[in-house]
Amino acid sequence: MRLKGVIFDMDGTVVDVTYDWNQIRAELNSQGKPILIYLKNLEEPEKSEKWKVLEKHESEATQKARLKPGMRGFLDLLRHKGIKIALVTNNSQRSVSFLLEKFNLEFDCIISRESGLWKPSGAPFQAVLEKFGLEKEECCVVGDSHFDIKAAEETGIPNVFILNEDKERFASMPAEVFSSVEELMKRIERLLI
Ligand SMILES: [Mg+2]
Repeated sequence: MRLKGVIFDMDGTVVDVTYDWNQIRAELNSQGKPILIYLKNLEEPEKSEKWKVLEKHESEATQKARLKPGMRGFLDLLRHKGIKIALVTNNSQRSVSFLLEKFNLEFDCIISRESGLWKPSGAPFQAVLEKFGLEKEECCVVGDSHFDIKAAEETGIPNVFILNEDKERFASMPAEVFSSVEELMKRIERLLI
């Protein structure tokens, strides 16, 4: 089936950004739980205090983020071919707005964490399919982490493309791994014919 939509992750995918998640987990004392779920279930005032810690890290990382090499050309190509593009991130709308403005990017659908739909649940991807009116097989996911793969799996989106130089890390996962946007673009071009 011809590709009609692409769902992008933001951090590590559209932009290169550095987070020390081990350090952040230690500061939050999140006890091995997914961070957003851990924060959501805290009581005040601890909840607000710890949200501030996460937001401080996000803000610092976002300020230093760089557009991934080749990404602008890739997004332009998809737009030129009439492919719908979505941005789905567990980061905040504040970070999204900052980065989209800084790099002058536009997406047809944006889902940030304020939606309450968080990866690795498939709920945010399902919401994109509904918004675009597309079937699972007509969309692919482009991400950089296990969360993106799990969310795609839960939604039933068969094509998952991971941008990551560490191909070994994803060896047993249901995804194709690419070390550069250029390499990924060649693969996706074959789905556009
Ligand atoms: Mg990511």
